[in-house]
Amino acid sequence: MSQYTDMTVVNVGYHSTNYWVISTSRSRLLVDLGWPGSLKKMEFNLQRMNIPISEIKYSLATHYHIDHAGLAQELKDIGIQLLLLDVQVDAISSLEKWVKPHEKYLKINQDDNKIINCNESRQILEKIGVQGEIIHTPGHSSDSISLILDDGKAFIGDLTNISMIEKDKADITLYSWKLLQDHGVKEIYPGHGPVYLLKELNVVI
Ligand SMILES: [Zn+2]
Repeated sequence: MSQYTDMTVVNVGYHSTNYWVISTSRSRLLVDLGWPGSLKKMEFNLQRMNIPISEIKYSLATHYHIDHAGLAQELKDIGIQLLLLDVQVDAISSLEKWVKPHEKYLKINQDDNKIINCNESRQILEKIGVQGEIIHTPGHSSDSISLILDDGKAFIGDLTNISMIEKDKADITLYSWKLLQDHGVKEIYPGHGPVYLLKELNVVI
């Protein structure tokens, strides 16, 4: 018997970006948060997968780039709590420095986010009914994190595919992949493109 039988993962992505809804008997968590101004599109895609947006209680961005965190505040405004890692706090102002008015981005209110650190992530996820943890996996950006589930799934955002990294370089991305492997990750849920199995890549980390 597995404790994961009640957990489902659904992709509600659009515009070449994956947004994942993890549903458990207790709650629903959205991983990666839409392009700015695209709330209607997000709602539509959720509806298509029979997920009422009102049932999503928490959101988590793998990193604060516009295609992964653009909807964070709009989602907060309809009652979805933002789980923000302490290693991500500074990245919000960097993101906001570069957004253009036409992108219709809503600034993230910094006063009411649930700021957590990786060490306490397991406890917090447990409350949502998700068995797993969040680890810091810099490389693509310094604020990049991965959500890893105990069943071997990992939501890695835009961490560069391991098969594209030069192994002889002491690379922070490689360090992040080692961490993922040490945590027993088997199945990769990237920010863009299809899900793949780590063993399919046939690379030695
Ligand atoms: Zn990115």
